[in-house]
Amino acid sequence: MLNFTVGPVMCSDEVREIGGEQVPYFRTPEFSAVMLENESLMLKYAKAPKGSKAVFMTNSSTGSMEAVVMNCFSETDNVLVIDGGSFGHRFVELCEIHGVPHETIKLNHGQKLTKEQLYEYDGQAFTGLLVNIDETSTGVLYDSEMIGEFCKKNGLFYVCDCVSSFLADPFDMAHCGADVMITGSQKVLACPPGVSIIVLAPRAVERVVSAKVKSMYFNLADTLKNMERGQTPFTPAVGILRQINTRLKEIEKAGGSEAEIDRVAAQAEDFRSKIKELPFEFVSESPANGVTPVHPIYADAYRIFEILKDEYSIWVCPNGGNMKNTVFRVGHIGALTPKDNDTLVAALKDMEKRGLL
Ligand SMILES: *Cc1c(COP(=O)(O)O)cnc(C)c1O
Repeated sequence: MLNFTVGPVMCSDEVREIGGEQVPYFRTPEFSAVMLENESLMLKYAKAPKGSKAVFMTNSSTGSMEAVVMNCFSETDNVLVIDGGSFGHRFVELCEIHGVPHETIKLNHGQKLTKEQLYEYDGQAFTGLLVNIDETSTGVLYDSEMIGEFCKKNGLFYVCDCVSSFLADPFDMAHCGADVMITGSQKVLACPPGVSIIVLAPRAVERVVSAKVKSMYFNLADTLKNMERGQTPFTPAVGILRQINTRLKEIEKAGGSEAEIDRVAAQAEDFRSKIKELPFEFVSESPANGVTPVHPIYADAYRIFEILKDEYSIWVCPNGGNMKNTVFRVGHIGALTPKDNDTLVAALKDMEKRGLL
């Protein structure tokens, strides 16, 4: 099996080995040390400002998106949401569910956010901004620095969902001024799904500590308090947290976050250059490194996904909603190499020969 989806992705052998071990009890100094090491590497790779904290949530990243909306905003806020695809739209729905007043900047699929568009909202009474830095459904990478400047100028609390862009595209939390960064275990961290990480800059820590949240599991003040000693309020996904530890140290050994970002970028570039002769179009104006959305000019995108899966044992990522039959996505994250791209491209060329493209 060769997996080019955008999560879960291929894991390294070291990470997989831990998955086969017994899961240890976790209220121990040993496990606390693992958690604190995870925190310090996460803060380093996010380039988080001094005084930032990271918490490890046992839920998928949507759970963390929800926790952030619940703990950082209330009915007295008025937030801007960048809605350029299904993940942006998820933030809109979360604001609706939790009664957070909001306005949406709606973008067409594949369209990037320009400075002109954003500054139409300049000088108005907004208090926060929510964006998915890589809108994974369309593969568009938004400019975290440009948006950060806008947030600084307008005093907005700035939330970045970096679930698929963390360690795939350059991101400097301190420099762009993000207050919150969210990511998950099954994307570039290339571990099994089940854990999501929220990095909170000092301003976000302050906000979370004084928030009045109607939730036990999503009370981030409680989570932060436990994390001071490397613990969580409830039983976490202990095995996955150990796998994350191994993976973070693997990245460190291989040259740190920059080296991993370069590796993902090279993997994307390699794939994009190798499919130039196939009857495909790229659909993103500002492509992120983690994923390439592909529009087949003649064939049905979902059918391509099915044939690759059933006849070649290769998984690409189908799209949902109204892009199901027009776009499929190829991921560049996880334990993949240019040689794996060759295997995928050979399968696609074989399909072309068979008249299936
Ligand atoms: C994958 C992803 C998520 C969340 O996915 P879960 O299925 O909840 O883990 C959120 N935002 C973005 C940008 C993603 O790519």
